[in-house]
Amino acid sequence: MHYRKFVADHLFTGRRMLDDQYALIARSDGEIEGIIEKKDAGEDIETYKGILSPGWINCHCHLELSHLKGIIPEHTGMTHFLLSVMSRRNIALPRIMEAIEEAERQMVNAGIVAVGDICNTPHTLSQKSKGNLVYHNFVETMGFQDALADNRFEQALQLYKTFAGMPVSIAPHAPYSVSRSLLALINDYPGNEILTIHNQESEEENVFFRSGGGAFPELFGALGIDISGFHPSGKSSLQTCLPSFEKKDSSLILVHNVATSAEDLQWTAHYRLRYPLPELYWCLCPGANQYIQGRLPDIDLLLSNGCKLTLGSDSLASNHRLDILEELKTIQRHFPHITLADLLQWATLNGAEALHIQDRFGSFDPGKSPGILLIEEAENQRLSEHTRSRRLL
Ligand SMILES: [Zn+2]
Repeated sequence: MHYRKFVADHLFTGRRMLDDQYALIARSDGEIEGIIEKKDAGEDIETYKGILSPGWINCHCHLELSHLKGIIPEHTGMTHFLLSVMSRRNIALPRIMEAIEEAERQMVNAGIVAVGDICNTPHTLSQKSKGNLVYHNFVETMGFQDALADNRFEQALQLYKTFAGMPVSIAPHAPYSVSRSLLALINDYPGNEILTIHNQESEEENVFFRSGGGAFPELFGALGIDISGFHPSGKSSLQTCLPSFEKKDSSLILVHNVATSAEDLQWTAHYRLRYPLPELYWCLCPGANQYIQGRLPDIDLLLSNGCKLTLGSDSLASNHRLDILEELKTIQRHFPHITLADLLQWATLNGAEALHIQDRFGSFDPGKSPGILLIEEAENQRLSEHTRSRRLL
């Protein structure tokens, strides 16, 4: 086996930033051999200007919506966005498939190596079968009324079976679109151990659970969904739905968290002391949040409460690119005090842990094949609009 030796200005291991005195040794097939001091690395060292990093993990995408790129106007708010997506589902299949292929190519070129992808259809199956990227498929289900739960779960199970052979789970869409009965079926399904849910993407979601008011009743009306049996919990969206997740050894990726409050996070910490909860990962999709509502989650608040953060691109319906580095740039622009090492860990190791693929991805530990990226034009470990990443191996 041939070995390659990489040295750059900085080497991000998945956990911390090392300097140019360390060499990353990898087999030519991509498997990491280890990190050693440069002085012990011998001849044939490849030297680069920039930062070496494991490949990006995109924890939240909807590849099947790629044909909606550039179609839905920006900054029109959450309920308008949902209606726009739902009203544009009758697109010709060849156009959908072409957009899926192009969007995947974009992710590969952007240095993404693994994706948590939401599926409402089997459209992405053939592209994913080519093996260009590793996917965890989240078959998404929704159904607001308890009486629909068995039926909706059965439908999700059919799609779940078409993805068999790849990593797959059944996941609820959002607290406001699934009944307690449907959540119970999802939680109880054997092997369904990597879950995700869109969480508190807008404040309207909290308003709906607290009082039954806000913009959501109008959305349900427009979609013809009867909510006459709904009783507001008087609590936030997160505090209403989290007790339905009670598998201890599973992980739950909470996506967006734009309207998550300090009280929600304190409540979650106290709740966890008394009741079983999955390991929680808080996935940030800043590009999509900006696109839809022009706001971002309070990342400082999430950090000060010890939340494990990951990154997602969301779909091309609500983002200009499927590119994790672009997401990090957006965060750094708004939260300039966060170190690059922290940002990179969210986008690599944390994401791999959330998708239960940390045995292969997310860090330069021996035996993993996480992909080796070179991040260029990041002077003084700051991202700028010129910063780019490319795959070295
Ligand atoms: Zn989403």
